[in-house]
Amino acid sequence: NDTLLRVRDLKVHFPILRGLLQRQVGAVKAVDGLSFDIKRGETLGLVGESGCGKSTTGRAILQIEQPSAGQVYFEETELTALSGEPLRQMRRRMQMVFQDPYASLNPRMTIGDVISEPLEIFGLAAGREKQARVQYLLAVVGLSPEFTYRYPHEFSGGQRQRVAIARALAVNPDFLVCDEPIAALDVSVQAQVINLVQSLQRELGLTYLFIAHDLSVVRHISDRIAVMYLGKIVELADRVSLYENPLHPYTQALLSAIPIPDPTVEAKRQRIVLEGDVPSPTNPPSGCRFHTRCPWAIERCHQIEPEFRDVGDGHYVACHLVDALGKFDPALGD
Ligand code: SF4
Ligand code: MG
Repeated sequence: NDTLLRVRDLKVHFPILRGLLQRQVGAVKAVDGLSFDIKRGETLGLVGESGCGKSTTGRAILQIEQPSAGQVYFEETELTALSGEPLRQMRRRMQMVFQDPYASLNPRMTIGDVISEPLEIFGLAAGREKQARVQYLLAVVGLSPEFTYRYPHEFSGGQRQRVAIARALAVNPDFLVCDEPIAALDVSVQAQVINLVQSLQRELGLTYLFIAHDLSVVRHISDRIAVMYLGKIVELADRVSLYENPLHPYTQALLSAIPIPDPTVEAKRQRIVLEGDVPSPTNPPSGCRFHTRCPWAIERCHQIEPEFRDVGDGHYVACHLVDALGKFDPALGD
C-alpha cells in the first residue's frame, strides 16, 4: 500500500466566546473540510498565504490540534479515534519541525538534552545508548559531536534548525510535518537546510508534509503540491502539472508572482495582481471563497461552492470555470 496518510473532510473550527457566560457567538473556520492523501515516501507541499490554515492543518493531522470533524488515518489506524496511550504510541511515528528554531528549542537545555528528550519521553534509549544515538543524530544533520554539551543560543538559526531536525528524527519517525522550516532563516542558509531535508528523505525513507507560504520554496522539494485558500484546498496536483498547467485562478496568481529567469516565458505570462485582502475565516464568503478577489468570478461563484474534483491524472481543482477535461475556460460562465 503506497498511501501513508489519508485525510477526510478535516475541519478545525475555533469557537469565538463572548460575555460572562462565554457563550459561543461564532467560529473561526481555520480548516474547513480537507480531503487528500499523502503517499509513502513523497513530499506533499502545502502552500498558501499566512492565515489560510496551513499550520493548523499540519497540527490537526498530528493530533496536536484537536480536529472539530473529519478523520485522519495513518496506514490503517484512525488517529482521530485514538486517545491516551495508543495515540501517544502513534505520535512517535509522526514529528514536526517548526518554523522558528529560536523559539522551538528550550534555551536552558544542552543540545544533547534537546535531541535526546524525545527518546526519554518514549523510553526508547538511556545511558550510553542514548549518548550514541545523539552522536549519530548530530552527524546525520551535519553537526559536530561537540554540540552535545553546548546551548542553543551559541548557534546560528541554520544550526539550530539542524538541531530541531535531529530532535524530530530521534524517535525514528516515518512522517514529518515541516512547517515553514526555512522561513525564519537567512537566505544564505535556506538552500542548505532544504538540501538536508531532501537528502534525509532519501536516506531514511521519510514522508513529508512541507508547508510554505509561496510556490517558489516548494517547487524543488515537492512531488505534489496542494494550494490552500481560507481553510480549503483549491488545487492539488503533481509538481509538473501544477507549475505548467495551473488551473485555479488563485494558483495562477501565486505563480505569476514568482520571477522566472527565462524572458521568453516571462513575456507570455502575465502578472496577476489580486485585489483586496484575504477575507476573515470567521465569516468566509459564500459560494467560492475566492470570489471576492477572483478576476474571473461569475454570478454562480457567489452562490455555489465549486466541487473539489479530479479533472484527470490526480489533478484536483475547485473552480466553476474548469471543465471536466481539465481546461480553464472563461466561456463556461456564458
Ligand atoms: Fe474564480 Fe469562480 Fe473559479 Fe472561484 S469558482 S476561482 S470565483 S472563477
Ligand atoms: Mg503558519
